[in-house]
Amino acid sequence: MSLVSRDPVLLTPGPLTTSLQTKSAMLRDWGSWDAAFNAVTAKVRQQLLKIIHGEETHVCVPMQGSGTFSVEAAINTLVPRDGHVLVLINGAYGKRMARLTEMMGRRVSVFETPEDVPTTAEDVERLLAADSSITHVGLIHCETSTGILNPLEEIADVVARHGKGLILDAMSSFGALEIDAKKIQFDAVIAASGKCIEGPPGMGFVLVRKSVLEKCAGHSTSLSLDLYDQWVYMEKTTQWRFTPPTHILVALHTALNQFEAEGGQAARLQRYTNNYQTLMAGLEELGLQSFLKPEIQAPIIVTVHAPVNAKYDFKTFYETVRSKGFVLYPGKLTQAETFRVGCIGAIGTQEMRSAIHAMKDALAEMV
Ligand SMILES: *Cc1c(COP(=O)(O)O)cnc(C)c1O
Repeated sequence: MSLVSRDPVLLTPGPLTTSLQTKSAMLRDWGSWDAAFNAVTAKVRQQLLKIIHGEETHVCVPMQGSGTFSVEAAINTLVPRDGHVLVLINGAYGKRMARLTEMMGRRVSVFETPEDVPTTAEDVERLLAADSSITHVGLIHCETSTGILNPLEEIADVVARHGKGLILDAMSSFGALEIDAKKIQFDAVIAASGKCIEGPPGMGFVLVRKSVLEKCAGHSTSLSLDLYDQWVYMEKTTQWRFTPPTHILVALHTALNQFEAEGGQAARLQRYTNNYQTLMAGLEELGLQSFLKPEIQAPIIVTVHAPVNAKYDFKTFYETVRSKGFVLYPGKLTQAETFRVGCIGAIGTQEMRSAIHAMKDALAEMV
């Protein structure tokens, strides 16, 4: 994969580096009433459903805004006002889901493990057995604050066995890690345009079990974030309910075409895994250590311990690496000084190797 622009490479978990083709798709203006634009919306909805093999069981409801808007819309629409959500937390995004659930007036219980400990199916089994009032379970697939992977399949099985609804925040894994609606049961999976599908940021989408969404009229306490209304309106008119993010949607369509041409989810996972392995080998060369054990690490984003060097300072390190063409991501942990490196985006191992060189030079300049 060759670098076609002189913009710095974003080693961040979204917004991320997009291809020139995806960027170029944003050079046209579209009318929201225009049939050609609405055909793109329909196509994108189909393409997204196909990624989870959900054409028979689920529907795709796109939503304006960043990913959090879609998480909020999913919880607010799918959980009845007297519902009770158990949120499984091992990082900032789990905490955010619990907070927004509470703010929307739903009952919420949380189960929190340390940031380097995945939630297990046994935990969920015990929690659901202990409290039958729980109606839904909220799970973060890959918790982007560290890069930890939670065991989706096992947890989904437990939730299904208890007859509860699973709401999955798969924002940073969707398109890269397998999520197959034919193999696992969930009410909704939430993701966004600007992560592993490699579109620009600006809209999210929720893939909801149709039989569930059909019963969600009137749940939402928000007008703009009502997924049920968005769905019904879109089905009826082919249009978005309020002003659509036209350029983002068309670029997302282009990104999805490239995703399919590359070979879909399996090929994307392979490329990211190659990036991840190149990164890990490079970190070892630099004497840097990753925060998570490899067994629980998704090949999406890696949290790295700051070097043991009295002169190290993230801001200086960041600026130096930035001046060499690579944008790193700050750490999000309270317990340890870290920084993060994303493996996702329209990049390959060549960019990752160059990034390692940039980090090496930056560290050498700091002693
Ligand atoms: C990116 C992300 C979100 C959404 O964050 P926004 O800043 O609103 O786009 C939610 N959950 C996870 C796990 C994420 O990685």
